[in-house]
Amino acid sequence: MKVLRLPKDRLDLFASVLQQFGEVHAPVEQNGKHAFRRLARWSDACLDYQRTILPPKKYFLPPKDTLFQYREGQGYVACDPEVDKRIILFGVHPCDIYGLNILDQVFSGKYDDPYYQTRRKNIAIIGIDCTPDEHCFCRSMRADFVDRGFDLFFQDLGDRYQVLVATALGDDMVLATGSLFEPVTQADHDEYKRRSSAKRGAFQLEVEIRDLPEIFEMEYDSSLWNRVGDRCLSCGACSMVCPTCYCYDVADDVELGSRNGGRSRSWDSCLFSTHAMVAGGENFREGRDSRVKFRYYHKQRGFVAEYGRPSCVGCGRCIEACPVKIDISEVIRELRGIENVTA
Ligand code: SF4
Ligand code: SF4
Repeated sequence: MKVLRLPKDRLDLFASVLQQFGEVHAPVEQNGKHAFRRLARWSDACLDYQRTILPPKKYFLPPKDTLFQYREGQGYVACDPEVDKRIILFGVHPCDIYGLNILDQVFSGKYDDPYYQTRRKNIAIIGIDCTPDEHCFCRSMRADFVDRGFDLFFQDLGDRYQVLVATALGDDMVLATGSLFEPVTQADHDEYKRRSSAKRGAFQLEVEIRDLPEIFEMEYDSSLWNRVGDRCLSCGACSMVCPTCYCYDVADDVELGSRNGGRSRSWDSCLFSTHAMVAGGENFREGRDSRVKFRYYHKQRGFVAEYGRPSCVGCGRCIEACPVKIDISEVIRELRGIENVTA
């Protein structure tokens, strides 16, 4: 991987060059929070942010996605042309890139998903480093640093960025700027190491994941699940904001009175009361306790068995979004017998 540096006063120039590679999207401030949006102008971008309301998964697996349509006289019409749009996603944090790498495993492995894969090919990722707040535990989930899944990655070194160039597209972006980027120096390396170590020390939240699948196995019948289930509202907010939750529901949308229609998929949540309902009205996870338990077991135990690591990246979004303050780090601590925090 090539490593370069970019003085911060040249960032605006770099951003103007980027437009030739596609629509530039970045986090923008929205009522005191942040959301990825198409930029009307570069000055709207806010690169110093904590976490966006929704993760970048919304670009790759949109909340509602048209899979195909059928039209009278035309027959089958392939999926939404938006799927081919070229986008540059600027300012993606390491945990969210890690989340995309996890979705890659799901949608490019056993379940080949052409919609997801086309978007992943057409959407460039420019990552940026960040500072953890009280809800971040990406370090515990080994997702505080990424070495793949992006085209360029910016690390803040004060008045300059150290820039990792990971792909041919990233290299093209750098080359298109002429001589904006410079070679890194030993002083840059030293500053990077100093900041990397400071970031390690800045985490306020730690979750021990070694032997966690085994502990989940032991605690399958714990009363903790009933207590958490009693509090849960089944609103699904935790899975909507999660960068690695990928359940969706498929529906045929028939336009009544015509011979037109289509098929779409929309985000679903295993916390919804109908998620495990099948024909005939049978519901395999009727109780909220069983649904909450399922979400935790899938992310922290089932995913480890299938893909070798938990699907949680420690972004802290579910902690912030839960209206009744169910906190994944507290649930795991109690499961480990460290403290009783969910009573
Ligand atoms: S489970 Fe919570 S902390 Fe983990 S990745 Fe999902 S939203 Fe982030
Ligand atoms: S956000 Fe909280 S209340 Fe809503 S479904 Fe998730 S755990 Fe339950």
